[in-house]
Amino acid sequence: MGIKKIGVVGCGQMGAGVTQVCAQAGYQVIVSEINSELLNKGLKFIDSRLGRDVEKGRLSSQDKDDILNRIKGTTDTKDFADRDLVIEAAIENMDLKKKIFAELDKICPKHAILATNTSCLSIIDVAMVTSRPDKVLGMHFFNPVPVMKLLEIVKTIATSDETLEAGQAFGNSLGKVIVIAKDTPGFIVNCLLIPYLLNAVRMLAAGVATKEDIDTGITLGLNHPIGPLALSDLIGNDTVLFIANGLYDEFKEPQYAPPSLLRKMVTAGRLGRKTGKGFYEYNK
Ligand code: NAD
Repeated sequence: MGIKKIGVVGCGQMGAGVTQVCAQAGYQVIVSEINSELLNKGLKFIDSRLGRDVEKGRLSSQDKDDILNRIKGTTDTKDFADRDLVIEAAIENMDLKKKIFAELDKICPKHAILATNTSCLSIIDVAMVTSRPDKVLGMHFFNPVPVMKLLEIVKTIATSDETLEAGQAFGNSLGKVIVIAKDTPGFIVNCLLIPYLLNAVRMLAAGVATKEDIDTGITLGLNHPIGPLALSDLIGNDTVLFIANGLYDEFKEPQYAPPSLLRKMVTAGRLGRKTGKGFYEYNK
């Protein structure tokens, strides 16, 4: 059975992006949030991002309206009862993801594929709370989803070949370039990225250089589009902390242990762009 109707759990940075690219590719999307305030915030974010595309002549206003008409918001997961594919993009917490997958398994049709956008958590652990581990896989999008070309697809030891092929065909239909990884913590990209980000925070905490000079060193010295501290702000310092904790729990290697400065930033609500303040300040 082909994938036509999509569900997205969570309308934060990633969920809003995934919702947008699916609707732009012509899919009918229902996106869920824990309350109407957060739902409206996420839907408004999609609206304003598409509005910017219209202003810049990348999209017609008719196309913008058509895309928005394909998106429906909900605070009731029962609305996923007719979905062919549900992509979970709630926060990076194993207990929460297990709870969400157990609920989706009860609500979604038997043929539905359930995907998680987790950055590093064990996908087989999530799959095993369902009655359909063969239909569970990782679909790891990158931030900002409408801009970043990569989709990392993660196959667990239980994911069937049919599910993997359907996931690849779906990713291709969104115009993404797909890499396939095994279900190991951090997969390909975050396994390499997180120690680098944590080292930049350690370097800042040790007073080796200012945040601006650390970021300029990397952008101009390595030709990266963005420095590590600005990137941590973009990802969300809370998400970087969640991922680092997940990798450390699994590997027990010091390179993955989050530095105390990162913990303090998160405790102080300096989560990065999403709260207007992280290593840098942002105009909302
Ligand atoms: P976020 O904090 O911006 O958004 C998460 C949203 O999920 C919040 O709005 C929250 O209210 C919502 N949520 C929580 N529980 C829910 C539930 N039961 N039902 C519906 N919504 C629920 O976080 P994010 O940056 O969008 O990250 C989401 C996921 O994507 C995480 O697993 C993260 O590791 C992963 N991810 C993040 C990035 C990144 O750069 N931020 C990149 C790739 C993957």
